[in-house]
Amino acid sequence: MEKKFGDSDFEYVFETMERLARERKAPVFTLKNFLKTPFQHLVFTVLSSRTRDETTVRACKRLFSKARTFDELAKLSVEEIEELIRGVGFYRVKAKKLKQLAEELKKLGRVPDTYEELIKLPGVGRKTANVVLASAFGKQAIGVDVHVHRIANRLGIVSTRTNRETEEELKRIIPENMWTKVNRAMVGFGQTVCKPKKPLCGICHFKNFCVYYNQLNKH
Ligand code: SF4
Repeated sequence: MEKKFGDSDFEYVFETMERLARERKAPVFTLKNFLKTPFQHLVFTVLSSRTRDETTVRACKRLFSKARTFDELAKLSVEEIEELIRGVGFYRVKAKKLKQLAEELKKLGRVPDTYEELIKLPGVGRKTANVVLASAFGKQAIGVDVHVHRIANRLGIVSTRTNRETEEELKRIIPENMWTKVNRAMVGFGQTVCKPKKPLCGICHFKNFCVYYNQLNKH
């Protein structure tokens, strides 16, 4: 069933997603509470790609026990960082990037709070920059990862092939004052309800207008 989303629909959708995800203790809400500083948000997001949140949290806790700031991280060798983050996807590549990242941040003297500066840092791509802007600085940005891309397309909010296209479409359609909610709500919802395989459509509040559900249940 085709649906055109209005502003109040988005409020309802994001609030409902977040509530369902919190009830089911989505890792995005329960595990990330320990992140206190922009540096920690940035490191977590860099390490989290292609890695389960639980694994990223364990690696970050080990790493932050030795390096709570970028100055401290810059003092560690790549091999020491590798040992501390072992277990996350591509940990060897990420250890090198983290070392370079810490050295760049040391030169800057801060974690930057603009997209243009963040994207220039080693190991920081479009998604990471946007997630950090929203989660660490409360700025209006939409970080699109696999969950956001999948769910936005399943619901029919967008019809896109790449994360980049999804980000652009979402920014065009969703009012800017709601952008910070998008990643959190959709990641939590994707971890617990609208999972990649076997989504829990039976308990989902969006069945009436979900394109994916309605295509699967066509008679
Ligand atoms: S109805 Fe199913 S596929 Fe659609 S958003 Fe809900 S869980 Fe996801």
